[in-house]
Amino acid sequence: MESIASNIEAIRKQINTACIEAGRDPASVRLIAVSKTKSAELVREAFDSGQVEFGESYVQEFLEKYEDPLLENIPIEWHFIGHLQSNKVRSIIDKVKLVHGIDKLSTAEELSKRAVQHNLHVDYLLEVNTSGETSKYGMSPDDLLLEAASLFHLPNITLRGLMTIASYDRVAAREEFRQLRMLLESLRDIAPDPSKLTELSMGMSGDFEEAIHEGATMIRVGTSIFGWR
Ligand SMILES: *Cc1c(COP(=O)(O)O)cnc(C)c1O
Repeated sequence: MESIASNIEAIRKQINTACIEAGRDPASVRLIAVSKTKSAELVREAFDSGQVEFGESYVQEFLEKYEDPLLENIPIEWHFIGHLQSNKVRSIIDKVKLVHGIDKLSTAEELSKRAVQHNLHVDYLLEVNTSGETSKYGMSPDDLLLEAASLFHLPNITLRGLMTIASYDRVAAREEFRQLRMLLESLRDIAPDPSKLTELSMGMSGDFEEAIHEGATMIRVGTSIFGWR
């Protein structure tokens, strides 16, 4: 495997190319390096080569890395991209820049309650199951639109957009990314403040170029940076 620095550089080039093809500004796509199962040393190596935003999926593992001396006192921006259970909200809420994987009204309510308690403001994304695969987390598009009105009014948290994990097949994935973009449009139509709803977290190592073509603002890339898990 190549070095982490050269992997990141190669991905940045691919992002640029996909953006140019799609007529987009490369600065409109943020690369989140997914470091789950990878050591603090490797995270530090990526950070030292210029990567600032990292994604973690498991609460316990994230907390260990967060507290690792190697990663203390450096301005990493952590994204929580895993499935978040209500009882774990409390332990991550003051440590992350954005929570991607909220898939229930009740978890959003818990996030709001804890944000109020800590006197914090938290940005989050709703996870949508665009593929319809039962093995995947995420709200159905219909439920999301039905529950949106309750979500918009929760204090101390702000819905910033949508997240999805697409099908393995790239052609199907592109269609699912398109669906997510359209769903964000529908959500903006009913939102009290549509200017807040700007983010589409979609695309991973195998399909981030498709996601960029469909409007991704954040791509979550693990394997292509850190190697196989
Ligand atoms: C693991 C993971 C990724 C990264 O996937 P790769 O295929 O390794 O790039 C992205 N998003 C989520 C939610 C993940 O759990």
